[in-house]
Amino acid sequence: MNVLIIGGGVIGLAAARELRLAGAGRVTVLEKGQAGREASWAAAGMLAPDAETETVDAMYRLCRGSNELYPEFAASLFDETGIEIELDRTGTICVALSDEDLEHLGGRMGAQKTAGINAELLSSNDIAGLEPSLSRDVVGGVLYPDNGQVENRKLVAALLEFARRNSIEVHENSTADELVIWNAKAVGVSVKGKSLEADAVVIAAGAWQSELLDKANVRCPPVTPVKGQVIAYERVSSLRHVVYGAGGYLVPRRDGRLLVGATVEDAGFNTDVTVDGVLSLRNSAERLLPGLAGREPDDKWAGLRPFVAGGEPVIGAVPGVSGLFVAAGHYRNGILLAPVTARLIADAVLKGSAPEIGRPFLPASGKEATAS
Ligand SMILES: Cc1cc2nc3c(=O)[nH]c(=O)nc-3n(C[C@H](O)[C@H](O)[C@H](O)COP(=O)(O)OP(=O)(O)OC[C@H]3O[C@@H](n4cnc5c(N)ncnc54)[C@H](O)[C@@H]3O)c2cc1C
Repeated sequence: MNVLIIGGGVIGLAAARELRLAGAGRVTVLEKGQAGREASWAAAGMLAPDAETETVDAMYRLCRGSNELYPEFAASLFDETGIEIELDRTGTICVALSDEDLEHLGGRMGAQKTAGINAELLSSNDIAGLEPSLSRDVVGGVLYPDNGQVENRKLVAALLEFARRNSIEVHENSTADELVIWNAKAVGVSVKGKSLEADAVVIAAGAWQSELLDKANVRCPPVTPVKGQVIAYERVSSLRHVVYGAGGYLVPRRDGRLLVGATVEDAGFNTDVTVDGVLSLRNSAERLLPGLAGREPDDKWAGLRPFVAGGEPVIGAVPGVSGLFVAAGHYRNGILLAPVTARLIADAVLKGSAPEIGRPFLPASGKEATAS
């Protein structure tokens, strides 16, 4: 089977790898810019299904399922490419800077534990022992031992290296302008007036997902961009865990960088870094790590999270148009959800099947998705 994937972010590239491993014939990725340089580059790489949930629902099960795939995914990628994606399972700590915050965190943790989520309440002394450089204003917190992070830029590099070694063609600077649908079947796309044919087309175009589908009158839940700004400091080696608190998060990388994220903004497709955005991130960072006070960040960037109303992704076969598949709307969890999304897409394209864990995210499951 000849599969065309539109979008070379982690979702498109991970799907391309899985399709190749599962025996697809020809796999081609079209990327309008440089592969992996949009949201997948801007992300902080946190794998936080537990720390970010309020309830155990279908979305939590999808996130947790993907988190559980990560050790094997990282090890296989290393064997396949020699690139270490720095999977880290040290745990994630949510800290409270006031008694009120601690009460909220504790209440949430109680509900999470009842639902079977692995979490431990920490006193201020426990936290000082685990992370001595954190502010003395920290009054306590919660440790999520099964959460962690991955170096998402190395993940992109590994997926691209896999593509290079396994005859997946990745065409950069190549925009899919139109989806070609013939007799209710997706037969390819056009690029600068030239048609590229395929047996199956997978649209994994991140925040730009709706452009192609709208033009072809395929109605899928609209995907919109949600801007996030991030700052980074070099040579901050004092922190070991991912830490949430003070309205932001800190992600310590193995090379000594500390990422601080992220703003959540409705700014269309604008990715400018702003004075206000940087100030608010510096403020969160300095409240948590007083050692950073007065230090200018060494780097700053912004990216666009692909958002669907409700915050859940849409993954699978589009009803009414055979050979058409979508994988988008991963919002704040696209790095976490890449392994499970890739498997769901490979199953949908090659076997026509939809495993239980992915069914609530099918375009048809109560979500609008028809060709008209
Ligand atoms: C600041 C920030 C922090 C984040 N932190 C985390 C985190 O800690 N953990 C986590 O799990 N997730 C995080 N995310 C979310 C995560 O980055 C995204 O959900 C994920 O990267 C989405 O991947 P994608 O492949 O769908 O999109 P993208 O990476 O944006 O890739 C889509 C690609 O499609 C291409 N494209 C679009 N239209 C076309 C076309 N017509 N033809 C060809 N190519 C096209 C684009 O150029 C782009 O490269 C964060 C996001 C941001 C912005």
